[in-house]
Amino acid sequence: MPDVHIYGGGMAGLSAAFLLEQHKKPYHLYETLSHWGGKLQTTVQDGFALDHGFQVIQSAYPALGMYHERGYLKDALAFGSGAWLLSHQGKTLLADPLREFPRGHAALGHPSISFKDVLQVVKLRNALIKQSPSAFFDQSSTTTYHYLQQCGFSQSFIEAFFKPFFTGIFLEEALNTPSAMFQFVFWALAKGKAMLMPGGIQTLPNRIVADLNPNHIHLNHPENPTIRVPAPKQYFSTQALYFAVDSDLGLGKFIGLNATNTGYINLMAIPSAVQKGYAPKGKHLLCISLRPGIGATDIEPSSTAVLGEAETLLGTRIAGEWLNTMTVKKALPADTPYRYGDGQMHLEGGDTNKDVDFHASGCIANPSLNAAILHGTSFVSAIICR
Ligand SMILES: Cc1cc2nc3c(=O)[nH]c(=O)nc-3n(C[C@H](O)[C@H](O)[C@H](O)COP(=O)(O)OP(=O)(O)OC[C@H]3O[C@@H](n4cnc5c(N)ncnc54)[C@H](O)[C@@H]3O)c2cc1C
Repeated sequence: MPDVHIYGGGMAGLSAAFLLEQHKKPYHLYETLSHWGGKLQTTVQDGFALDHGFQVIQSAYPALGMYHERGYLKDALAFGSGAWLLSHQGKTLLADPLREFPRGHAALGHPSISFKDVLQVVKLRNALIKQSPSAFFDQSSTTTYHYLQQCGFSQSFIEAFFKPFFTGIFLEEALNTPSAMFQFVFWALAKGKAMLMPGGIQTLPNRIVADLNPNHIHLNHPENPTIRVPAPKQYFSTQALYFAVDSDLGLGKFIGLNATNTGYINLMAIPSAVQKGYAPKGKHLLCISLRPGIGATDIEPSSTAVLGEAETLLGTRIAGEWLNTMTVKKALPADTPYRYGDGQMHLEGGDTNKDVDFHASGCIANPSLNAAILHGTSFVSAIICR
């Protein structure tokens, strides 16, 4: 039987190994680093689970189906459907009126939110939810910002809600990301929920690894110089500061968006209000994600300055103890082709007796967990079909 060598132990490589294991096919999975999960990393510090960058799992991602079936996500818990809009005038909850009744009606008093904008959100949601997610990537795309304008949203609503919300997802503030990506993420948010795993984002890859044959998986594997792994040329970076706090600061299970789009902060959240295990008993974890570019400059804001800005946005004093700052320089590839998936993968040559190498690192159809998993599963389909 020929050998299958998978290079890269992120979600793409792990998903390939997971499926090969299911099909009882031989393989070897190699990771150069000392941990599995690639971008999905969590550092546990003093009982707090600090994810490397603010990350969630979109429960509706189709590629997650095999992990739902396996029960890996059964104890994932969801953020509220909506967000706090934070500004110097105070905080307003913009929540999904269907899923967060009766809280969803509160936003109509906000100066940036008109009834027309709220109706437009419902209209967009109803239009997108009917489509198949891959179809978004087959249509001609514009930038997300332009698309939102075309949809008829007011400038003030785009600036107060869509801009900070999708900056937190795309890690770029101009919203130049193709509208197909926006439609896909919006579809996933409408269909499912933004979830956190118990113990942090790395729990998902850890669960996959626990079901793989330990003799077939190799950490700290020296890079094979003959294997050229094509890497993206450009990335978006991100930085998150973590603080130990005594309460949920009134944010509860909702993300707080900096609706002013000025200063250091993009968004803040209390992961421990969603999944208790993110903080030790009696404590909460405050995660503050900075606006793109802020943490990447030479003049990093001090944790005191960031916390001070959070106090102004929340309108309350925060007794917070800085725990750590997580900088992810290569968080999202900026130069993907923005396709749904890899399509049908063709393996080199048709020789079924030849060993096969799979480069499962960074080269995906779009910058999402869904595309990373599909990258791995398309490879396995090609192996099984050859
Ligand atoms: C802060 C942050 C927030 C995110 N938020 C979201 C989100 O909300 N929704 C979403 O869908 N996606 C999100 N993502 C993106 C998602 O996490 C990634 O798209 C996905 O995890 C990428 O998986 P991957 O396996 O393709 O690559 P990676 O996770 O980069 O894994 C590649 C692995 O290959 C290893 N490797 C590289 N070269 C070699 C070699 N030669 N030999 C062996 N091993 C090698 C690397 O060390 C690495 O472990 C986010 C990412 C970050 C960082």
